[in-house]
Amino acid sequence: MKHHAAEQDEYHDIRDAVAKLCAQFPGEYWRKLDREMAYPKAFVDALTEAGYLSVLIPEEYGGAGLKLSAAAAILEEIQRAGCNGGGCHAQMYTMGTLLRHGSDEQKAKWLPKIASGELRLQAFGVTEPTSGTDTTSLKTFAKKDANGDYVVNGQKIWTSRAEYSDLMILLARTTPKDQVTKKTEGLSVFLVDMREARGNGLEIRPIRTMMNHATTEVFFTDMKVPKENLIGEEGKGFRYILSGMNAERILIASECVGDAKWFIAKASAYAKDRTVFGRPIGQNQGIQFPIAKAYANMRAAELMVKEATRKYEAGMDCGAEANMAKMLAADASFEAANACIQTHGGFGFAEEYDVERKFRETRLYQVAPISTNLILSHLAEHVLGMPRSY
Ligand SMILES: Cc1cc2nc3c(=O)[nH]c(=O)nc-3n(C[C@H](O)[C@H](O)[C@H](O)COP(=O)(O)OP(=O)(O)OC[C@H]3O[C@@H](n4cnc5c(N)ncnc54)[C@H](O)[C@@H]3O)c2cc1C
Repeated sequence: MKHHAAEQDEYHDIRDAVAKLCAQFPGEYWRKLDREMAYPKAFVDALTEAGYLSVLIPEEYGGAGLKLSAAAAILEEIQRAGCNGGGCHAQMYTMGTLLRHGSDEQKAKWLPKIASGELRLQAFGVTEPTSGTDTTSLKTFAKKDANGDYVVNGQKIWTSRAEYSDLMILLARTTPKDQVTKKTEGLSVFLVDMREARGNGLEIRPIRTMMNHATTEVFFTDMKVPKENLIGEEGKGFRYILSGMNAERILIASECVGDAKWFIAKASAYAKDRTVFGRPIGQNQGIQFPIAKAYANMRAAELMVKEATRKYEAGMDCGAEANMAKMLAADASFEAANACIQTHGGFGFAEEYDVERKFRETRLYQVAPISTNLILSHLAEHVLGMPRSY
């Protein structure tokens, strides 16, 4: 593929270095993990040691203090190389909640250890089984005790990487929904030290899924969270979580662009190589066009990711662009995945080509971390001004 995003941005060196690191983790590495549903520990350790997971942490706290576009370039390259950032990408965006809304003491206590890799902040507990996308209806409750500390009861689902994380950003109700004037009030964010909490009111149960994702459900039974671990003001947590969503959308969109590039490169190479009826299958326009179309859609999505990133970095409101970038990039990666599997014919279904694995992995982005419907509803209501549906 001629186009390389490195032609367009300032991150040539980072992109090349990430690609080099990823080359040490080829298809066989991921296939074995996929079969065993095992966590990519060696890969995550290598990224941590190289400092890639802490690029967004300011230098004063031991990170590289780079812009969001640098993190986006790293995640894109990981996916483009056929690897998967799902085992560790959350650290990049959940850390922002602490950085933006934590006190100076909290930042000084936690961020340097997260930057050095001593502590992993990979778990993000928002989704619950009964409330789903309707976040403000979540039921996990953190009740203040006589000392002002909190006692948490409830359950989360799809808390990815919880078994491989030391800390969790947790969203819980601190005032019942029927006692607040706005349903978005009365929710609070906590930094849970899972090293202390596991076995002391925190139970983690893995969920086996379509792809290897180390996701879990977590149960809280009288789990104690010290008052020092409340982030920001009590009751304002929903706003804090929302404020991190644009960065999350942009980073996930970059992963999707990386996936799309992997599928397109893989499909074009195979189309040139595979000979049927005495000529390469890629000589047939029926094979060429779906790949070319996927390429055009990937490039369009990539432009939207860049526009969302530009606005984000300029401190402008980028809610619409970040959401569109995530949706368009997830669509582009899935379209490319589909073209890739079709180009490979029967071999697309064979484990050893990695196509079916990446196909399963990229399918997730239609649903998580935000589903396509919810993005469309955001655009319809907040950008186009149509009536609220919920
Ligand atoms: C592998 C995996 C990892 C995840 N990791 C995390 C994590 O680390 N932390 C975390 O908190 N969550 C995580 N999630 C949860 C994820 O964010 C949710 O699954 C996603 O937001 C959708 O919510 P839901 O599953 O509850 O679907 P529901 O809310 O039950 O919705 C089901 C379907 O109905 C649609 N729908 C719902 N309401 C409307 C509406 N008003 N209009 C139109 N359509 C609607 C949805 O779009 C969806 O397609 C993960 C999920 C998966 C599968």
